[in-house]
Amino acid sequence: MTIFQAPKGTYDLIPPDSAKYLAVREAIAAPLRNSGYGYVETPGFENVELFARGVGESTDIVTKEMYAFETKGGDRLALRPEGTASVLRAALEASLHKSGNLPVKLWYSGSYYRYERPQKGRYRHFSQVGAEAIGAEDPALDTELIVLADQAYRSLGLSGFRILLNSLGDKECRPVYREALQGFLRGLDLDEDTRHRAGVNPLRVLDDKRESVRKQLVGAPLLRDHLCDACKAYHEEVRELLTAAGVPFEDDEKLVRGLDYYTRTTFEFVHDGLGSQSAVGGGGRYDGLSEMIGGPALPSVGWALGVDRTVLALEAEGIELRLPASTSVFAVPLGEEARRALFAVVTGLRRAGVAADLCYGGKGLKSAMKSAHRSGARYALVAGERDLAEGVVQLKDMESGEQVPVALGSAVEELGARLV
Ligand code: AMP
Repeated sequence: MTIFQAPKGTYDLIPPDSAKYLAVREAIAAPLRNSGYGYVETPGFENVELFARGVGESTDIVTKEMYAFETKGGDRLALRPEGTASVLRAALEASLHKSGNLPVKLWYSGSYYRYERPQKGRYRHFSQVGAEAIGAEDPALDTELIVLADQAYRSLGLSGFRILLNSLGDKECRPVYREALQGFLRGLDLDEDTRHRAGVNPLRVLDDKRESVRKQLVGAPLLRDHLCDACKAYHEEVRELLTAAGVPFEDDEKLVRGLDYYTRTTFEFVHDGLGSQSAVGGGGRYDGLSEMIGGPALPSVGWALGVDRTVLALEAEGIELRLPASTSVFAVPLGEEARRALFAVVTGLRRAGVAADLCYGGKGLKSAMKSAHRSGARYALVAGERDLAEGVVQLKDMESGEQVPVALGSAVEELGARLV
């Protein structure tokens, strides 16, 4: 029988590379935990209607990329293609917004699913860490989120990313702009599909990557010139706060995102070493989403950073993360009595917080020492019958090759002292 393979567009995280993914998730979460964001976890699937209404009926995510299915019980569900709609749904369901303590700040980490054409950096199952600040309209909050994402990337050592910033206006000024843009698009030579898109979601046409479309878009009306005074002032304040925080950004008047719920502040983090799938993260304000999914008016802002692409960005910059050693001490018992004695030492080391492992399977010295090397351990503890008769174990420094006997009873202490 042939061995099963991971489904198309997916891949497994396996050691040692999987450690990088954990470290990236941790690095993104750390600044959030430190800034008042509480952890939230929602199901991997939701009622399909939540995404249809939340993300937008006309978006690629909903029309083409969603894994939607009907259960045996007749429920229409979908694997989550993104996190914001679910997190807002959970916050509303638990009435977190009624606690009187707005904004409700939440962060999450998990798997997302989109039926996309797979390529490097674009998968059908991928992983994101995200943050949402629900129920406050304050340019400082938008800025906080951008600053925290910047801090997360920098803490990983990344420097080759740029922050693109735009404002998508609000329910006052966007409809006016939308019409102006539609008028402009009607005069262009566009294919059937694109003309349809111009009808349902003209802003997304601005995001078209094809050269034939791009060159016609020169001279398109820009939202910047249509923003109402309130949106203009809000956006200006975000820009000033970012500048004061020392976070560089680029104004990108054509930045729109693939989800319908965004209003006002919109941003994307792009990495120049990634080729066509260059967006490592993105987000923005979504003041109308709560009402779209049946909640009260709750202006909110959030982002999601892609873990897979962040790992690719690290590789593109040649950054090796300094990961904690998975094994500091590797114990090699030669014989049954030694196994008993070293098992006790390893247990003691682990209880003392030292990363330790034991050679299993009754291997001989040579192959056991190979395992010790492969484990990456700084020290090996080797014991045979003669050592035990003398009440010692051999402590081998794997870097220098030096070996000294230490009393069995003080091995945990000795190693603890050496490893600080
Ligand atoms: P989005 O919700 O589309 O803005 O996605 C936010 C981030 O998730 C992106 O910037 C990517 O880093 C990541 N992402 C989105 N879709 C995929 C995918 N198909 N494969 C890998 N990463 C993705």
